[in-house]
Amino acid sequence: MIIGIDMDDTICSTNELIIEEADKYDKEVLGGSGVKDINAYEFTEMMGWPKEMKGQFFADRLEYIMSHSPIKDGAREVINRLHDNGCKIIIISFRKDKYLKDPYKLTIDWLKENDIKYDKVYVNTGTKEDECIENNVNLFIDDKESHCEDVNRVGIDVLLFTNAYNHDEKRFKRVDNWYQVEEYVKEKYNG
Ligand SMILES: [Mg+2]
Repeated sequence: MIIGIDMDDTICSTNELIIEEADKYDKEVLGGSGVKDINAYEFTEMMGWPKEMKGQFFADRLEYIMSHSPIKDGAREVINRLHDNGCKIIIISFRKDKYLKDPYKLTIDWLKENDIKYDKVYVNTGTKEDECIENNVNLFIDDKESHCEDVNRVGIDVLLFTNAYNHDEKRFKRVDNWYQVEEYVKEKYNG
């Protein structure tokens, strides 16, 4: 079986660290008082920043954030167990070189540091279905609805990994953690 997996907010909790670092950045660099509205859907609105500030913040801090993004509970354990049981693990990330020196190196370094077994890594992707088709992916896991939609449209099974913003999405089978991924693979694919 071949599994395609997203990185940010699927394997690691990037969004939480972005908010934590933005809070520090606002206080330390911009002289503000930190997060303005934690429930705001849009990031700059959450920070009370003008739209263009997001680019400056990412240019300054995204490299640090993505290399320090904490691994999600059970991710190492479950992914490595699936790999040991014969599953191929293909990491498919939208990470771009706009704010990162080398998103590929950053990603493989992080995977090595966190002891995650994998077979292939893609970064800088478009809508992700091309990488899934090219690698004969059977199951694709991502926290972003649009990626699930694009991959599912070409007939590939998808799991939507719950994040802070996708609670209303009902079209895809949802998982809240990696143990639920493992359960699903066992039940549906005898993996
Ligand atoms: Mg993601």
